[in-house]
Amino acid sequence: APVILWFRRDLRLADNPALQAALRSAAPILPLYVLDETPDLRAPGAASLWWLDKSLAALAADLEARGSRLILRRGPAERVVADLERETGACGVCWNAMFDPGVPARDARLAEALAAEAVEARRFNGGHLLSPDKVRTKTGGQFSVFTPYWRAARPLVNPGEPAPAPAALSAPADWPGSDRLANWGLHPTRPDWSKGFKDWTPGEAGAAARLDAFVHGALKAYAGDRDRPDREGISRLSPHLHFGEISPKACWRAAQAAALRGEVPDAQVDKFLAELGWREFNANTALAAEARGDAPEKVNVDRRFDAFPWRDDPKAFAAWTKGMTGYPIVDAGLRQLWTTGWMHNRVRMVVASFLTKHLLIDWRAGETWFWDTLVDADHASNAGNWQWVAGCGADAAPYFRIFNPVTQGEKFDPDGTYVRRWVPELARMPAKLIHAPWAADKAILSACGVTLGLTYPHPIVDHGVARQRALDAYQSLKADR
Ligand code: FAD
Repeated sequence: APVILWFRRDLRLADNPALQAALRSAAPILPLYVLDETPDLRAPGAASLWWLDKSLAALAADLEARGSRLILRRGPAERVVADLERETGACGVCWNAMFDPGVPARDARLAEALAAEAVEARRFNGGHLLSPDKVRTKTGGQFSVFTPYWRAARPLVNPGEPAPAPAALSAPADWPGSDRLANWGLHPTRPDWSKGFKDWTPGEAGAAARLDAFVHGALKAYAGDRDRPDREGISRLSPHLHFGEISPKACWRAAQAAALRGEVPDAQVDKFLAELGWREFNANTALAAEARGDAPEKVNVDRRFDAFPWRDDPKAFAAWTKGMTGYPIVDAGLRQLWTTGWMHNRVRMVVASFLTKHLLIDWRAGETWFWDTLVDADHASNAGNWQWVAGCGADAAPYFRIFNPVTQGEKFDPDGTYVRRWVPELARMPAKLIHAPWAADKAILSACGVTLGLTYPHPIVDHGVARQRALDAYQSLKADR
């Protein structure tokens, strides 16, 4: 009897604990992916589906190269997996855990149903350095601040030995039927904005190549360059990590090995490991929120913010999504997102601050936009970071710390290279004025081909006025207590 290897958000053959367990069982392996249609689980956004489409194609090809196949089925996963188990007489099901809201409970129900049929469900942690339900304070409590969390968590990380992809997977005598990936229609058609996603290579090989390029390149100056959207100072591993095309332990090992070889200073490596730590912290926090019954993408961690006077302003929100706010660094970020499915972290913070503070629009609207447009959209990291910027999250930046989009631009994109790339109508502006075109006199604007209000918008809010309005709103919250 075969063992079902249920791929979920672990679309890789190397360093995959569920796959290793299936191999150890010595049974024929039946690889499965279910397009999960469980009601009440949050459906992936459009950019994520684009990625999934490509990633599944890559995984299927990698399996075929090893004499195996990827069986595709759709429907509520609980039913689909149990049906396939009965259909094939499988002796066990192996999978790696996921912690999205609703999934652990669903998985537990499925494991119980399988056990009732004497089929063993074997579950592993393949997506995190540490299982998010494991790290607790000394007294068993929940960490709410990153630094003590990381001080406690980091020594617990055991990156382990690499488990390379097997050369072959033993095939079952009969293959069950499979859907065709193309029939799932995951690739967007109307509108197919994803043409600009061409720099991505979803799949395990693409992930490994990214990690390799990063470790031999940007990692050397990561601590400083990671804040510079005008440089390629980061890894761009986030969508690969989200879909589990590479394991965070493999990233950890590769960065530490570069330090051991003396190629990269420890401080640079530590900073990178700490960013992987934020991914862990967000997963840990989201799971705790769910345990309280609070969906992380809906409920303020700091419940005082439940009374926050958010504004309803569809016109301003639309200008923000389109990158037409009149603030060049904000617009550049939102256009990078729309065009490539990804945005630099520094700029994510700037645009999120702009939405929640300058426009006083609820962070949940921004979170939803990112959910739909990011290829790395992740329930824990997206909600966690939005709440962090909005001031209502775990270990959040204080609300009254309001980014000035002009000085942020001047500091982190000093030559305007990033803005020039994504807001081409400002490409000819001198570096000194590119982050505040309204401050330029008419002659300069006209020499650069810029007519404010015509070729590029006037700022939709005045920074000083918006800042005061945000501070007043925050003050009203404190007065309410
Ligand atoms: P690197 O700088 O190379 O970092 C390496 C890895 O560490 C990343 O791939 C990521 O897995 C992790 N990481 C880095 N920073 C963070 C962070 N602040 N929080 C959690 N993990 C981090 N990241 C997502 O993966 N999915 C999201 O949906 C997401 N939404 C965000 C929303 C907002 C408003 C903000 C401010 C940040 C968000 N981030 C999200 C975090 C961060 O912006 C991205 O992880 C990062 O930009 C990815 O680029 P990279 O892989 O080059 O990062």
